[in-house]
Amino acid sequence: MQVQRLSLPSYTLSPPNVSLSQQLSTKLLRLNPSSKSGFCSSLKRVSKSPTGLRTHGKFVAVTCGVAQEEDTDDGFYMRRCVVLARTAIGCTSPNPMVGCVIVKDGKVVGEGFHPKAGQPHAEVFALRDAGDLAENATAYVSLEPCNHYGRTPPCSEALIKAKVKRVVVGMVDPNPIVASRGLDRLRDAGIDVATCVEEELCKRLNEAYIHSMLTGNPFVTIRYSISVNGRFLDQLGEGAAKSGGYYSQLLQEYDAVILSPSSIMENVSIPASKEAGANQPLRIIIARNISSPIKISALTMEPTDKLMVFADKETSVELERAQTGIETVVFDQIRLSAILEYCNSQGMCSVLFDLKGNVSDFEEFLQDGIEQNLLQKIVVEVLPLWDENDVGNFPVALKDLSKKLKVENLQPKISNESVVLEGYL
Ligand SMILES: [Zn+2]
Repeated sequence: MQVQRLSLPSYTLSPPNVSLSQQLSTKLLRLNPSSKSGFCSSLKRVSKSPTGLRTHGKFVAVTCGVAQEEDTDDGFYMRRCVVLARTAIGCTSPNPMVGCVIVKDGKVVGEGFHPKAGQPHAEVFALRDAGDLAENATAYVSLEPCNHYGRTPPCSEALIKAKVKRVVVGMVDPNPIVASRGLDRLRDAGIDVATCVEEELCKRLNEAYIHSMLTGNPFVTIRYSISVNGRFLDQLGEGAAKSGGYYSQLLQEYDAVILSPSSIMENVSIPASKEAGANQPLRIIIARNISSPIKISALTMEPTDKLMVFADKETSVELERAQTGIETVVFDQIRLSAILEYCNSQGMCSVLFDLKGNVSDFEEFLQDGIEQNLLQKIVVEVLPLWDENDVGNFPVALKDLSKKLKVENLQPKISNESVVLEGYL
């Protein structure tokens, strides 16, 4: 059985009303994740005009407060932007993932995405790819073009200079230094602007970026495994950690992953995404209220891997042998909020709280997280096991919580023999 991606509904990758050749073009891109330069020109020629894709007809989008007619072709190209944007998954923080497609006379003439912070934005790559063909074309961008001088010049000016006729935007940028100014600048220059096309999809793509921009905290997801009788399990289902598995994909997607010390002490390797070209997350070990020193065995780590041990004053950390890539930070008092603050200061937008090992290591963090609304998403793997184990104390750890949480938009996915539930807190 094939494992599905967790983070986006599957229809975004293969829209039901898209022809086989269009689906192939999407798949080609996914199979070529090593191409992270921001250009996708080798693939764009496969992409065809979606002429005839009018099953939804025309409809009115009012989500941005301005009612406007939206063409279904716009939706098609916007979904393509999202696919392009996802090529850089896990690489763009603190920036968002953005994709851009330039379309002229029903043909894709340029494509691009933002590969990582400090590099040009998606619009710049797509305009370069289109060259002179950008004149009088329509530019599709999954996020509002920027209008400020950051590390790169404003994309609004690049679009104006390229003389595009129309700009279609997936969502307005929540970043207060952008916040509709990009759209205003384009309109002032006489460009026809449409907004909020496939807005929900574009928001989902950058849920972590949006959350961190609006709250100043990283987007936090908790993940754990349970048996069918509701017991906590310290294991992953078959294939979950392999390439294409849901766990491997989660690790690729997040900027940092919080792990229990027991999950590291008993293992010789640290969890890593097996996706091709994955940018590995920062691994964070929480060590607190532990009287004996934490011993970390000689870990198998790649040269670029980074592991941080967040310890309180009472806890000392012993490495079995000197290793590069391992750093210890001592806090007076470790709280989840302090860790998230640290991650935010390092430009991280998303943190995966991975409940493996001894769950009691996390008890207070979970309570803090729930009581202070620091947790946004939940990913639960239900394994095909009936298990009466002793580590099944997960519900006990949280039994004193007075708060009842509602999980919204709970969606099941199949991962080999397991069911993976994903929802929002
Ligand atoms: Zn820009």
